[in-house]
Amino acid sequence: MDDTTAIVWFRRDLRLADNPALQAAAEGHGRVIAAFVHDPALLRPSGANRVVFLHGCLDALDADLGGRLWEREGDPQLVLPRLAEEVEATAVYVAEDFGPYGVRRDLAVEAPLVAAGRTLERVGSPYAVPPDTLFTGGGTPFKVFTPFSRQWRDHGWDEPIRAPASGSVSWLARPGPEWAGRPTGSGPEATGGLPAAGEAEAARLADEFLAGHVDGYTDDRNRPDLDLTSRLSPHLKYGTVHPRQLLARLGRGAGAHTWSGELCWRDFYADVLYHRPETARQNYSVAMNGIEWDTGARADDRFAAWCQGRTGYPIVDAGMRQLLAEGWMHNRVRMITASFLVKDLHLEWTRGARWFMRQLVDGDLASNNHGWQWTAGTGTDAAPFFRIFNPTAQGQRFDPHGDYVRRYVPELRAIAGKAVHEPWKQAEADLFSDGTGQYPSPIVDHKAEREDALARYQRR
Ligand SMILES: Cc1cc2nc3c(=O)[nH]c(=O)nc-3n(C[C@H](O)[C@H](O)[C@H](O)COP(=O)(O)OP(=O)(O)OC[C@H]3O[C@@H](n4cnc5c(N)ncnc54)[C@H](O)[C@@H]3O)c2cc1C
Repeated sequence: MDDTTAIVWFRRDLRLADNPALQAAAEGHGRVIAAFVHDPALLRPSGANRVVFLHGCLDALDADLGGRLWEREGDPQLVLPRLAEEVEATAVYVAEDFGPYGVRRDLAVEAPLVAAGRTLERVGSPYAVPPDTLFTGGGTPFKVFTPFSRQWRDHGWDEPIRAPASGSVSWLARPGPEWAGRPTGSGPEATGGLPAAGEAEAARLADEFLAGHVDGYTDDRNRPDLDLTSRLSPHLKYGTVHPRQLLARLGRGAGAHTWSGELCWRDFYADVLYHRPETARQNYSVAMNGIEWDTGARADDRFAAWCQGRTGYPIVDAGMRQLLAEGWMHNRVRMITASFLVKDLHLEWTRGARWFMRQLVDGDLASNNHGWQWTAGTGTDAAPFFRIFNPTAQGQRFDPHGDYVRRYVPELRAIAGKAVHEPWKQAEADLFSDGTGQYPSPIVDHKAEREDALARYQRR
């Protein structure tokens, strides 16, 4: 360790334990500054739910640092070099960002740092196996998940490292109120149902899941009514826990194997987006570019009904209302609602993906947009377009007693059991109302829209 100062620039790694960038800074430098920059370019598209969750994570990190997190709003390209000059830092440490914006931003921050004789040190990443690590036998990026996942398991990952012992890092206190500043944000209020934030909460959720639910995960993961998945996605998004810390604790059972496969999907999509950044907005499979999508007033009305959970298909509406209430939706229902938008309403996947990104507390460009592309049949090894989910059958199969629908659609609470998935078969009209509103009739006929989707697929 020398007598220099380093900055640890926190981004999507808001934790002290198992943080290689922090460890490298602490080992190499006598003084360390913990900094976070509120970047308007990222805040604008974030949606209120993610901003509020992020602020909760920052509060927790600041408390863990004894009130020594330096926060500033502005373009990192300006803020970081200025801070480095102010405190005479010789290096800025980060976990490498592989997203399209993050790559550009980091190069733009690095240039003035280097010009002033400083360095940007990229140490670690938010992934178990970072993008641009695994390649096919032919040396090309993977396009198919299963061979990627085989190599991912063979490659493995480092053991997690502990949080620095208290007193082992000389964190510099922030100098004045300007470094405690935080943008107030704008736009709609966040929902009241957001999860708790911060590193300690991520550890609590991981303990709960790994001790209780991971063994049954293979069977239970598709049941939104049981709600037994880990709910760690917002924490993985903001790095209050690293996948390495979770993988290190997994046993050898079938549930553990299935669950680690989900963490692999996260790495896979990050790798795909890194190599094909344009697929954040465009079809991965160009063969699907010719599909006709609906636009205009009727399409807009249908889109609005979908966003508000008023399509008349109970499992779709329950999912969309869970999203509005909690900023989160169960994975099976994400697939059902996404399929409904694309194949029953004939709207382009990008429209739904944007709505999800505005609402989701775990909203992540790679996982979200490639989750959408997979469902829409435009993605990597996607579900073929012509395999079309029947929303009623999906509801009956994965919410077999109707509990999930009744939890989020109060108008239907009087309908017992799985009959709730077909309210149109009920005789009594008052079953459709909870006193605040009438449950809508289906806005489209699934059977007819299925035929239409198949015809569009043939015509593309
Ligand atoms: C249309 C659509 C949009 C999605 N948008 C997002 C998103 O914005 N952010 C996001 O993190 N996940 C997204 N997913 C994936 C998945 O739905 C969520 O990760 C999962 O529901 C989060 O709940 P959990 O933490 O309880 O997951 P668990 O079942 O406990 O899984 C553990 C972790 O594995 C990762 N994971 C699980 N499934 C997937 C998957 N299919 N793709 C990538 N990673 C996965 C997540 O980090 C998750 O937290 C999307 C899926 C679809 C079909």
